[in-house]
Amino acid sequence: MNVLLVEDENRIAEFVAQGFSAAGHSVAHAGDGAQALEQLAGGGYDIMILDLMLPVKDGVEVLRHVRAGGHTMPVLILSAKVELEDRLKGFELGADDYVPKPFYIEELIARAQLLVARRGGATEASLQAGGIKLDRLKREVSWRDGSVVLSSREYRLLELLMRSPGHLFSRQQILQQVWDINFDPQTNVVDVCIQRMKRKIEAADGAHGVLIESVRGVGYRLKVQLADG
Ligand code: CA
Repeated sequence: MNVLLVEDENRIAEFVAQGFSAAGHSVAHAGDGAQALEQLAGGGYDIMILDLMLPVKDGVEVLRHVRAGGHTMPVLILSAKVELEDRLKGFELGADDYVPKPFYIEELIARAQLLVARRGGATEASLQAGGIKLDRLKREVSWRDGSVVLSSREYRLLELLMRSPGHLFSRQQILQQVWDINFDPQTNVVDVCIQRMKRKIEAADGAHGVLIESVRGVGYRLKVQLADG
């Protein structure tokens, strides 16, 4: 797993990083909330482990920003705030789990792994949805009768849609997650990229291009099918 650890106490950050590294995971560390959001924009993380009491921007603000931006990655709160009220607030804002300090590193790793595994193979070499399979090593899309190679941008866009089948992503959310930009560039880059990707898929197998659904004026989603085929 690629872990983004947001923790201002170096002693704890080192302890967590060592534990995850020993278990074969890689950890990027952010020492405050603003730095966390900057690093997150770079993408590529499977999970965020988030302290609540942080300088610059606190954990609650970070979490709010993450979810408002449409990031669906699991967020595990690791905090000395153990009151029920704090925990409920965390869940309300979209946290996936809450581990109170002090904690056992083994339990923290186990919980993090479980969240990532439940995410639907986020760290697996391939991702499947709607009968389509994404090979994350070759960056190739395949299904029963065909395959197609996508550009890096098209691939990231399809991967985003496939990680949450049926979820409607706004253009702004797609721009943030695939292009890493937080403003409206006043262009139709998202639509152009979707069209190009659909054409490639349709050229190889007409049936699957239509799986990506456009919701007029809102955005895009991967159609959910009841049965693969
Ligand atoms: Ca702290």
